[in-house]
Amino acid sequence: MKIAMIGTGYVGLVSGTCFAEWGNRVVCVDKNAEKIEQLKQGKLPIYEPGLDKLVERNQIADRLSFTTDLTAAVKDADLIFIAVGTPPRLGSGDADLSFVYMAAKEIAESLEGQPTVVVKSTVPVGTGDVVEKIIAAVRPHGSFSVASNPEFLREGSAIDDFLFPDRVVIGVEGPRALEALTALYSPLARANTPVVVTQRRAAELIKYAANAFLATKITFINELADLCEQVGADIDDLALGIGLDHRIGRSFLKAGPGYGGSCFPKDTLALLRTAQDFGIALRVVEETVAANEARKRKMALKVLDAVGGDLKGLTIAILGLTFKPDTDDMRDAPSIPLIETLQRFGAKIRAHDPVGMENAARVLENVILMDDPYECVRDADAAVVVTEWESIRQLNLDLMKQLMRAPILIDLRNVFPRGAAQAGFQVSSVGRPAST
Ligand code: NAD
Repeated sequence: MKIAMIGTGYVGLVSGTCFAEWGNRVVCVDKNAEKIEQLKQGKLPIYEPGLDKLVERNQIADRLSFTTDLTAAVKDADLIFIAVGTPPRLGSGDADLSFVYMAAKEIAESLEGQPTVVVKSTVPVGTGDVVEKIIAAVRPHGSFSVASNPEFLREGSAIDDFLFPDRVVIGVEGPRALEALTALYSPLARANTPVVVTQRRAAELIKYAANAFLATKITFINELADLCEQVGADIDDLALGIGLDHRIGRSFLKAGPGYGGSCFPKDTLALLRTAQDFGIALRVVEETVAANEARKRKMALKVLDAVGGDLKGLTIAILGLTFKPDTDDMRDAPSIPLIETLQRFGAKIRAHDPVGMENAARVLENVILMDDPYECVRDADAAVVVTEWESIRQLNLDLMKQLMRAPILIDLRNVFPRGAAQAGFQVSSVGRPAST
C-alpha cells in the first residue's frame, strides 16, 4: 500500500518506518525542513534504540522516503496518516489541535483518488468529525474516509511496541476505511494480535482512557510509597505482593518522582477538559493529576531534608534528566520542576544525562551539563538519581563517594537497592525507610 505519514516525530517516524518494514511504500512528511534534511542524510532527529538501522534498511529498499512536500506525498496515497503533535494549550490544558487541523486542510487541498485519512495523533473525542468536515469543505465531492487509529507505543521501546503491540484500535464509520486498515495491519494476524474495531469516537476515547488509567496506577503506587516511608515498609516488596495478582498486574507499579513525558501529563489534562465539556466529573483522574503535580515539587523537599534543611550555596548533582531512560525526550520531565525548585532553594545544579543533554540544554537554565557522570558528582554536596538509565545503575558507588564532598544520595528511582548504604552513603529512597 502507499502511505503518507504527516508528521515525522517520535510517533510518525516509528510508525512510518515500521509500515515500510511490512512492505508498504511510505513517504514521511514534516514541516521541519532541518529534520527532513537530516533524515535524507541518514541521521535521526530523535534517539530511539534500533530505529537507525530500520530506517536505513527501508530507505535502501526504496520503501521509505522523506519530504517536506505534502502535496506530492498525499497525491497517490491509499492511506494518509496524521501524526502531528497535540500539545497542551498553555493555561487551559486542552489539546491544541491546530497542527491536526492545519494538516487536514493541507491534505484536503492535495487530495486525489479515494484515500483513507487516519488520525494517529492523540486527539479528543469528536476530532475525527472535525477533520472530516475540514476536508469535505475543500472537497465537497471528494471520495475519502476518516478513521481513528490511536498509537500506544512507548518511547524507548517504540519499535517492539509497534511491531508486536498488545492490540490495535481501529475507529471507523464505514467499511472502506476498515478494509484499508485491516489490510495494513494484516501482518499482525500471524501473532494473533487483537484488533479492536469500533466507532471513531470510541477509538479516540480509548487512547485517553488508557493513559489516564496508567497515570492513575503510577500515582497509586507513589502515594503508597509515601505511606511505606512512614510505617517502615519497602514499596518494592509491596508492589511485588500486589502485582503478582493477575487482576492488578506487575507493570506500572514502580514508585518514583511522579509521571512526566510528552503524553501522560497532557493527556490526563485533556481528558479532564473533555469530561468537563460534557458535564461529567472524572474524580479519580482529577486527583491523579493533582497528586502528581504536588509530588514533583515534594521531591525537592526530599533533597532539602537529606542535606539537613538548607540548600543555599550547595552543589547538587542530578543524574538523569529525560523523563525516562532510552529516550532523549525532555517534554514534561520530572527533572525540570525538581531542578527549578532546588534552584529556588538556592542550590547550584550540575546535571548529567547519557542522551538527553542537547534537549535538556534547551529547557534548563543555569545548569552545568556534564558528559561524564563522575565529573558531575565531583565535589557535590548531594547526588539525586532522577532517571534510571542503565549507565546510571552501573555507576561505581565507591568512586562516587570518593569524589563527592558529602556522601548523600537521593535515589528517586530506587536503582541502588542496598549497595549505596553499604558503600557508606546516607541514602533517601522512595518508599523505603531512609539509609537502606
Ligand atoms: P512530535 O512533536 O515528536 O512530532 C510531531 C511532528 O509533526 C513534528 O516533527 C512537527 O514538525 C510535525 N508537524 C506538525 N504540523 C505538521 C504539518 N502540518 N505537516 C507536516 N508535519 C507537521 O510528536 P510525537 O511525540 O510524535 O506525537 C505525535 C502525536 O502522537 C501526539 O498526538 C502524541 O500525543 C501522540 N503519541 C505520542 C507518543 C509518544 O510516545 N511520543 C505515543 C503515543 C501517541
